[in-house]
Amino acid sequence: MANKKVSKKDIAKLLEQWSQQFAVFAPSKESGVAEILKWDGKDTSFLDWYRNTVIPPKASLLPQMEEMFRFQKGDDGYNIETPPKDENKRLIFGIRPCDARAMSILDMTFENAYEDPYYLAKRKNTVLVGLGCTNPCESCFCTSMGVSPAESIDVDLMLIDIGGDFLIEEVTGKGKELIAKTSGLQEATKEDEAKTKQAKEMVYNKVTRKLDTKGIKDRLLASFNDEEFWQKVAAKCISCGICTLLCPTCYCFDINDELVKQEGARFRSWDSCGFPNYTKMPMENPRQEKWRRVRQKVCHKYGFYPMTFDIIACTGCGRCIRLCPVNWDITQVIESVPDKTEAKK
Ligand code: SF4
Ligand code: SF4
Repeated sequence: MANKKVSKKDIAKLLEQWSQQFAVFAPSKESGVAEILKWDGKDTSFLDWYRNTVIPPKASLLPQMEEMFRFQKGDDGYNIETPPKDENKRLIFGIRPCDARAMSILDMTFENAYEDPYYLAKRKNTVLVGLGCTNPCESCFCTSMGVSPAESIDVDLMLIDIGGDFLIEEVTGKGKELIAKTSGLQEATKEDEAKTKQAKEMVYNKVTRKLDTKGIKDRLLASFNDEEFWQKVAAKCISCGICTLLCPTCYCFDINDELVKQEGARFRSWDSCGFPNYTKMPMENPRQEKWRRVRQKVCHKYGFYPMTFDIIACTGCGRCIRLCPVNWDITQVIESVPDKTEAKK
């Protein structure tokens, strides 16, 4: 069956229609920085300014701070009150392919080994509607990480800009079902399909930053104890944590209890392996020196994560490059890892 399309001027109507079934989230600058927020029911100005968000869409499913449960101290110990699971149906509109891949990576993290009920309850009721890029940033290197800026297998529906319209690709059964229930869409013509192909190719070629990741896992493992190299890599980092907190695949969180008299609540909030007090165990953070923490960040994404899940936990979204206050650049670091693997000996 032919793909559908929607006119750009009808996007508000489309979101309005989907709002009858879902809590719709869309790009917004309401808070002062670009992020995916609950759609206000009218604003589609993001179609003009949106390249990507500063705060990644993971915040919709793994909020910066989240209440886990409440407790009261009684005579026989603590009574625990768990909040009802957040199973509201939500639709995230406008997610970029790099961030949708990041969501698939987070799914692996939160589904395997330990099932995270907070994340999974929200995730299973979420529809992802991707929006292809037209104007990638200089810092983007998604095409080197197996992601294409206007194509995605990680969303339910994918919209591609073909001028006055968006062509809509149905990627999953969930997406197909949603389109079947959506009115007001037009059939895409052969000409629209040709324009789509052209748009995808054109934007793919606009991503000019490249990164060669061949053999990176083994190179990192072989250079793990090269302190001189990691000292050099970490030299200018100021441990602000931005590159990890705003990375769409990072998921570390800290847990704190807020207690007033006999009752309180347990919260979790984003944390960063770049912080000196991260993982402060009964003794100390085993990564006291900055170079050990920077090494952990790089090796986790490009070495340890692929050892477990066979995928690099970086999608080339470029946020850590764009937003680092001292211009630390992960692509330069990866390129500079010495090759001390067996093959080179
Ligand atoms: S954003 Fe830059 S300075 Fe901040 S922790 Fe990351 S690399 Fe270091
Ligand atoms: S490591 Fe940097 S480029 Fe890679 S996904 Fe995280 S923020 Fe994006």
